[in-house]
Amino acid sequence: MAPMRCSICGRQFDPENSTAMPFCSERCRSIDRLRWLNEQYGLPYESEPRLGGDGGGDADRDD
Ligand SMILES: [Zn+2]
Repeated sequence: MAPMRCSICGRQFDPENSTAMPFCSERCRSIDRLRWLNEQYGLPYESEPRLGGDGGGDADRDD
């Protein structure tokens, strides 16, 4: 069988040896799933929330 390319890590792998098609491993499959979930729920994946602002301390946390 021709090797496939994992869309997560970009590595080529043998589909016959993979237990997590169409990914190379369970790890990559779970990464894909997390990404998908993040998109579904619109969670901030890249954009950082305003951390600390100008306070930066732990004195005024509001959870
Ligand atoms: Zn992979």
